[in-house]
Amino acid sequence: MTKMAFNIKKSCFIKSATKPSHFPDDIYPEYFFAGKSNAGKSSLLNKICNRKNLAITSKTPGRTQLINFFLINNSISFVDIPGYGYANTPKKIIASWEDMINAYLSTRKKIICMFIAIDIRRGIEELDKSMINLCLSHNINVNIVMTKSDKVSKSEKTQKRNKTKEHVMGFPNILSVNTFSAKSGDGVDLILSIIENSNKN
Ligand code: GDP
Repeated sequence: MTKMAFNIKKSCFIKSATKPSHFPDDIYPEYFFAGKSNAGKSSLLNKICNRKNLAITSKTPGRTQLINFFLINNSISFVDIPGYGYANTPKKIIASWEDMINAYLSTRKKIICMFIAIDIRRGIEELDKSMINLCLSHNINVNIVMTKSDKVSKSEKTQKRNKTKEHVMGFPNILSVNTFSAKSGDGVDLILSIIENSNKN
């Protein structure tokens, strides 16, 4: 029997911000999405919301990076955290990224959990672990979404997923490790059922 999945009927962009005084009111249960640049985070958000361009990737590393807030079904909030790990990012930009994320994590009161996009072909890397650790230090649970699963064979998919599970065994805040493809639709219902089930409490 398949679990009930959250049904996204309406999604709208609320605002972009870099600091807490500009964040929207903290009203709705909030899910945030993180990942290394190019991991497929925007495609993931667009796919689960069934929208073409709700989340847009900023491909220019030096540019100001913003936290984007979305309202889903007038009942929950999705937050798109700027991607990390661009090649040759100046130290200053990395430091301001870290300040911004720390400010986000320490001020928002309704965060339910994080979804972290990890390219299935690359697997989990140091920066991903740092992100998971950061969540741990703020008592936030994490769902690992191994993206672009259409790019690997079925056996590789199982292998990569198991390997990632092994890699994160030491983290007490991992809720799930699943595969996903914005192309084939693999894993969409799983994400939506995680949202549905965590939102009942
Ligand atoms: P972001 O930087 O993490 O937001 O990544 P994007 O969503 O912009 O995706 C980066 C690149 O990977 C783009 O060229 C996408 O078309 C591609 N991509 C993203 N998701 C998938 C997927 O599920 N399957 C395949 N084959 N390509 C994908």
